[in-house]
Amino acid sequence: DDLVSPFAGDEELDAEVSVRPRRLAEFIAQHRVRDQLELLLRGAQGRGTPPDHILLSGPPGLGKTTLANIVAAELGTGIRTTSGPVIERSGDLAAILTGLAEGDVLFIDEIHRIAKPAEELLYSAMEDFRVDVIVGKGPGATAIPLDVEPFTLVGATTRAGLLSGPMRDRFGFVAHLDFYSPAELDALLHRSARILGVPITPGGAAEIAGRSRGTPRIANRLLRRVRDYAEVRGDGVVDEVTAKAALTVYDVDQLGLDRLDRAVLRALIDSFRGGPVGLSTLAVAVGEQSDTVEEMCEPFLVRAGLLARTPRGRVATEAGWLHLGRKPPEGRGV
Ligand code: ATP
Repeated sequence: DDLVSPFAGDEELDAEVSVRPRRLAEFIAQHRVRDQLELLLRGAQGRGTPPDHILLSGPPGLGKTTLANIVAAELGTGIRTTSGPVIERSGDLAAILTGLAEGDVLFIDEIHRIAKPAEELLYSAMEDFRVDVIVGKGPGATAIPLDVEPFTLVGATTRAGLLSGPMRDRFGFVAHLDFYSPAELDALLHRSARILGVPITPGGAAEIAGRSRGTPRIANRLLRRVRDYAEVRGDGVVDEVTAKAALTVYDVDQLGLDRLDRAVLRALIDSFRGGPVGLSTLAVAVGEQSDTVEEMCEPFLVRAGLLARTPRGRVATEAGWLHLGRKPPEGRGV
């Protein structure tokens, strides 16, 4: 139900496939990362060796999975996809590694969540293209060395700070993905609309882009919802008026705040005169768990400059008051 969540819902991944860029040239924005990746890939291709291992970090929904698939497509190799939490035992990882063909890309999403023994096995695979599989237990245990074909690991993480030093050091290329500007999301929306066969005007795209929280996944999702509205209640064209009306129905405001985000801000301003107030008190005021408020609402409210975390508690900023159409109290420092 959460239209502005950066995470993909289960059925959403299917909807995303059709608009997912396949090649580097189709990947919108992130020019620095794109340029650097292109050099890395072309350089390695020229030498006929797999490129260095690649670490992609950044918030969810900005294109890490997409880029991992693009790396394989650009190299013309196969890709094997798994994720940190799935690899519990080092044996699971050894099976994946020894099954790779020469030059393949191994994509490990949420690599910061990989279990320690598997992580250690990954070190030798990344460095020497070989793994020691331990057979047996206790004093009788033996290490059987197995070769792994040269491959490129693409690791993705939303929490680069949680990666161990030795792990980080083994990536020859590290890229951080940043939130997209409204103009970049605008370009992305035009591209997606073209692929989906949805007529869209510049005003319609701008309206959706401004509410997408700098996140391609959210932009594409809002486009799908506005398309529904345009087809059911309009003439099928996503223009400014239709986008505004649709996003009002779906309760996503001009900055991309949803109902709960606004409830938090309103409670902070109306019930606590703009704060400071503790997280748990604020959560009770909106009838939610503290975790929900902290993980689902606060990061964006802070990033949008509407709420600040201070040592004494949460505070509404001047922009926060103004966003709800209220006059901020005189002399408010934030
Ligand atoms: P998660 O880790 O939650 O899967 P992610 O960072 O891997 O997030 P993706 O799944 O790659 O994000 O991207 C989310 C959606 O946004 C995809 O449908 C993808 O097509 C689209 N997308 C992301 N970045 C771009 C881009 N630069 N250009 C065009 N589409 C993009």
